[in-house]
Amino acid sequence: LTLTFGNRPLATYLELAPEQLPGVNLGSWMSAEQRDAFTQRLSQLSPEFPVSTAEINLQLPGREHAWWVWSDRGVFDEQGRLLEIQAVGRDNTEVRRSQQQLTQSAKMATLGEMATGLAHEINQPLNVMRMAIVNVLKRLSNGDVQVDYLIDKLTRIDSQVQRAARVVDHMRVFGRRSEIEQQPFNPAQAIEGTLSLLSEGMRGKGVDLRISETGFEVQVRGYVDQLEQVLINLMVNARDALLDKREKHPGFKPWISLYAERDTHSVRLWVEDNGGGIDPRLLERIFEPFFTTKPVGVGTGLGLSVSYGIVENMGGKLSVRNSTEGARFCIELPIVPAD
Ligand code: ADP
Repeated sequence: LTLTFGNRPLATYLELAPEQLPGVNLGSWMSAEQRDAFTQRLSQLSPEFPVSTAEINLQLPGREHAWWVWSDRGVFDEQGRLLEIQAVGRDNTEVRRSQQQLTQSAKMATLGEMATGLAHEINQPLNVMRMAIVNVLKRLSNGDVQVDYLIDKLTRIDSQVQRAARVVDHMRVFGRRSEIEQQPFNPAQAIEGTLSLLSEGMRGKGVDLRISETGFEVQVRGYVDQLEQVLINLMVNARDALLDKREKHPGFKPWISLYAERDTHSVRLWVEDNGGGIDPRLLERIFEPFFTTKPVGVGTGLGLSVSYGIVENMGGKLSVRNSTEGARFCIELPIVPAD
């Protein structure tokens, strides 16, 4: 990645004079992972396919992270040997930053929508603890306490404290910005995180959750908190459709099912509900930003469009179909081979 020439804007970005550029290694502004990906991409250039474009992340002097859309063209001799590479770059940091801000605001909006569920999630352990404490106090005032009884109650309280702490911890992690670089992770982790935030609230609202454990080990590449955000959006949307339907049909039994399947190349996560599905005329539009059928102040219309972007950014696809009973969303992600 040694530069033989660079123009003035490049030199300015790197805080050098143009004549200092020859001999400088472009890779020294990249993380090891970015550098590997970059050289890997260059090694695939051939006389038949001499051009390749990617978005690269640079750690530039005086700025935290810059994103450049970078296009390389290999110059080959008659025997097909690579002589040099000519490249053009465009600074995409601002666009990237606005995208990240959009994702972040959508995430905060999701947290807002979940607030009632979370209150429930934390209230539950508080209630259990309160009961335990009331019982212990009653026994104490009667002078009727055995050590075993106290140990049992205190252990119970301790496990409930841990449960509440897990929820709070998780909320904090969820609210954070995603890491700069995508990481391999097991999608089951995102399912677990989603359920830890949502399941109590869903059950509290009378929604039957049908979860099939994945039971297999796979890795996908991206950000676990973002995949969680997608799952939360899908489940919260399903919940809204279900509660809407139950308002009109009081005897209705709402359910959401969440399951995963895999083949050699990809893993698919399915979120399905029996809320009646999506009006076929709207199916095309629901992934558009700001498209919502919910009342002002309830829907932002950002959930699905941001989810779509997140899954696409992970190299996957988010799609939807109506089943006989309701909507059926599918997150399909490419599996990354284990190292
Ligand atoms: P919001 O939830 O803020 O409206 P979204 O982008 O998440 O924004 O969803 C867009 C629209 O898609 C919703 O307003 C709703 O009409 C429709 N929708 C999404 N999921 C479902 C579902 N599971 N069942 C029925 N309609 C759905």
